[in-house]
Amino acid sequence: MPEMPLETAEDVLAAGLPVPLRPLARIAFDYGWSWQPGGEALWRAVDPERFEACGRNPVRLLREAPRRTLEAAASDPALLDAMARLARALDAERAAPAAAAPPARPEAPIAFLCAEYGIHASLPIYAGGLGVLAGDLLKEASDRRVPFVAVGLLYRRGYFHQRLDPSGMQHEYWTTVTPEQLALERARDAAGAPLSVRVPICARSVEVAIWRAQVGRVPLFLLDSDVPGNAAIDRFITAQLYVGDREYRLMQYALLGIGAVRALSALGIRPAVLHLNEGHPALATLELAREPLARGEPLERALEEVRRRVVFTTHTPVAAGNEAYAPAELAAVLGPYLAALGLGSDEALALGRGTDVSAPQPFGMTDLALRTSRSANGVSRRHGEVARAMWAHHWPGRRLEDVPITHVTNGVHLPTWMAPAMRALLERHLGADLLAGAADPARWAGVDDIPDEELWAVRCRLRAELVAFVRARSVSDRLARGEPIAYVERAARTFDPGVLTSGFARRVASYKRLHLLVADPRRALAIIGGPRPMQTIIAGKAHPRDDAAKTMVQAIFALKGEPFAGDRVVFLEDHDLETARALVAGCDVWVNLPRPPLEASGTSGMKAAVNGGLNLSVLDGWWCEGYDGANGWAIASAPAPDTILQDARDAGAFYTLLEREVIPLFHERDAAGIPRGWVRRVKASLRTLGPAFCTARALGDYVRTVYGGGA
Ligand SMILES: *Cc1c(COP(=O)(O)O)cnc(C)c1O
Repeated sequence: MPEMPLETAEDVLAAGLPVPLRPLARIAFDYGWSWQPGGEALWRAVDPERFEACGRNPVRLLREAPRRTLEAAASDPALLDAMARLARALDAERAAPAAAAPPARPEAPIAFLCAEYGIHASLPIYAGGLGVLAGDLLKEASDRRVPFVAVGLLYRRGYFHQRLDPSGMQHEYWTTVTPEQLALERARDAAGAPLSVRVPICARSVEVAIWRAQVGRVPLFLLDSDVPGNAAIDRFITAQLYVGDREYRLMQYALLGIGAVRALSALGIRPAVLHLNEGHPALATLELAREPLARGEPLERALEEVRRRVVFTTHTPVAAGNEAYAPAELAAVLGPYLAALGLGSDEALALGRGTDVSAPQPFGMTDLALRTSRSANGVSRRHGEVARAMWAHHWPGRRLEDVPITHVTNGVHLPTWMAPAMRALLERHLGADLLAGAADPARWAGVDDIPDEELWAVRCRLRAELVAFVRARSVSDRLARGEPIAYVERAARTFDPGVLTSGFARRVASYKRLHLLVADPRRALAIIGGPRPMQTIIAGKAHPRDDAAKTMVQAIFALKGEPFAGDRVVFLEDHDLETARALVAGCDVWVNLPRPPLEASGTSGMKAAVNGGLNLSVLDGWWCEGYDGANGWAIASAPAPDTILQDARDAGAFYTLLEREVIPLFHERDAAGIPRGWVRRVKASLRTLGPAFCTARALGDYVRTVYGGGA
């Protein structure tokens, strides 16, 4: 091992702590703490208020806490004990030998490339499902000890924060984090010098610093162009996730794709497989072709070499997720780079074309990825079908079922998403090692034998915890919006821990059809204000340039003056990983109303399911293979040309299910006050969905059928 310089960020943090607390620095620099039991409790034990005020960021907590707080912590035996246990657990994880996962080996890992990662709320480099899924896969790879590294971008301004005004209009703002405030180390070369690479953007050579975040065993390398020597425009390339300007986004994708390959090489990592997670990093394949092209191989031969090592996952059929650039846009950002590769502009453009007709066509990132990878997959069975139809023109003459796009259905990382109370219950009844074998349906069979009373007690406790969270958050949200005091106070009083609670929280994209919740306002209000009431929590951000989505949020707010609405409907602002965790744990019913077939998978419903929440969803994405008639509720909605009619029909089906099935079942209690039929459904949901929709199953599929399925 090369000698590392003494002054790592972790050393500096440790040096500022009282001696007994120094192991906390080691814990803070490994996001593994966030899914170890007791991890969060440890930071709360230091200072609960400050932990919240620091955005649950342990590095800031330790750096900003006053000396007397740290001294008090250093003399708390229970805290020191918990610290020692957690440090030992994390060290043991890091030291354990790697699992056999051919072709991945420790010296030739899987390299995962993605534009966003949802690891923890304190690392704000994600926007929604794509990033959270990527984060969950890294965590699972760490748990399963699969040799894995990941590369992404360090967005110092991250994704935007959301504020609503009293009319429900969304306003965006950005806060800046510096790498010093995060659990990041500069990656260094063998001599200890900070590593950076250069990426050609337009006619410039942009310096890109490489940072490392440790996600358990898995290093996540983050590329950062905010380097003093760069021009101001270039320093901004990695500032903002999904920045609105197209040219800037293309620069980001160039920096991600080309930069990832160069960074891995600078780090001395020779991946067995590169996994392009969504089309954003697809330009990596051109950089991989550079060496064979320089050797004089013709393009097609060079690409054959590239293809042997690259796999691709497509994540959405929505057009905005499959970006394409006009030839002039591509030339402006990548012209000099492509010329240096020796690629003629027609040759380069042809790689990203939808079909091979010669008329000028935009350069699609998904098209490029499909042409330059050995395998492609969608993210649910249904999405596999949709993707085969959508991209069939890449394989002219083949029958649809022979189009070589498979699927690996998404899953969720159970240690992250399963609430402690549910985890404790299941481990007590199904075995302490349930999560280690979570993908095995046999391990979940015993769910049916858990006494109804115990399962129901945990559900009521999780709902009560959510209600406490919602009260606190909605009071502060309403205060910040400048609402009248009386309206603020209603949030604190009336959300009720005993009332049927439904949730709808995800990015507010038009196809997710948030507006269906209030498509028939009279009927919706009658449901929430009826004799057997229901309360609803809504959360999610609309993309700053998506006015249609913003209007959907306002449609919800339009009802806030109605009787009951202010008491039983809450919009939680600034949805993130933390609000998501609270919501999926406590909601009884998780609602999803996408316009089929646009929901590639969806994952928030899986998170609700593993906490004993029941899904009520349009049959699309993962729910097409998850729903079995007894483990939730489904709305069948065929793709329809008349979207207004389709919306009206689906909203009607949604209300009918609530009125006739969901609400009666929840209120049908026996003498002991237990809703037996409801609990039966919860059990069916846990038993069938737990093993099928966890990342243990999803990662296992990737290792066996995608990474191991190549040449
Ligand atoms: C899981 C998750 C999502 C994805 O939700 P879908 O219902 O799959 O769209 C989005 N945002 C956050 C914060 C999440 O945790």
